[in-house]
Amino acid sequence: TTPIPRKPADRSKVYMADLESALHYALRVEVARFSVLTGERVRALKDFVAVLAKYFPGRPFVQNFLRSVDRWLRNVRGSRIPYSALKLVLTNRKEGQAPAVLSNNVTWVGCQGSEPHFRGYPCSLWTLFHLLTVQATRHHSGQKAEDPLEVLGAMRGYVQSFFGCRECAQHFEGMAAESMDKVRSVDEAALWLWSRHNRVNARLAGTATEDPQFPKLQWPPPELCHPCHSVVKRRQVWDEAAVLQFLKAYFSPINIFLNYTE
Ligand code: FAD
Repeated sequence: TTPIPRKPADRSKVYMADLESALHYALRVEVARFSVLTGERVRALKDFVAVLAKYFPGRPFVQNFLRSVDRWLRNVRGSRIPYSALKLVLTNRKEGQAPAVLSNNVTWVGCQGSEPHFRGYPCSLWTLFHLLTVQATRHHSGQKAEDPLEVLGAMRGYVQSFFGCRECAQHFEGMAAESMDKVRSVDEAALWLWSRHNRVNARLAGTATEDPQFPKLQWPPPELCHPCHSVVKRRQVWDEAAVLQFLKAYFSPINIFLNYTE
């Protein structure tokens, strides 16, 4: 059972518990479904862990953990990885050393649903990738990124190779194939993911996957970001510059909360 936070999560915040739970679930549950990784899956895992090691603004021990997994993956020779070998690295148990750094279960806070089948991992995966696209903009602020698709490409590969919701993966691949390669900068990458996520929200609004306590909105709603919404010729439109500024503040390290039970 997932512990329920004592008070409802604040929708204007990002919670480290969700992000660390996403890491645990992505690496130790989704990837673990394949007893041997080969071909595309090896590449997808390497790219995913590489962007995590580079951009995940984690607690120091989590950053060390991600960097050590990244180093290990870079040194893998050959084209196949048995999960049993990866598992040893992911549990990080070496004799005489501190045990696993990532908790072995999930705790949803901002991604807690009103019922166990709502929200959770898919919510945390979106949150993780928005955060990574925004971290990449901070990393490259003022200079042109060599590869503006670094994070989106890693997400595309991860979702294609590992995301357990295959229907979601297909939909996402459809959107990626249509327009991801038009992205020219890290700012555009953060906005691309924001706008595609809103498309998914629009498609799913009112369907069975919607948690009634968390209706699918075009995000951020005016309560979270008033300047993001403007009116042109009496039509509601997004002010993308304001949205970008909002994304950078919302998915910034100082908006990530570590303590959520107080
Ligand atoms: P989510 O949509 O998961 O959003 C999580 C949080 O992100 C929200 O609480 C909010 O704080 C923030 N957020 C919301 N919108 C945005 C935005 N535009 N930009 C930035 N942040 C935002 N489910 C299906 O049934 N069919 C699908 O085809 C499908 N495709 C998916 C594809 C991907 C790649 C992923 C990761 C998930 C997909 N899902 C799909 C799951 C679905 O999108 C939701 O994740 C799930 O229903 C849980 O919804 P939620 O209410 O927790 O909010």
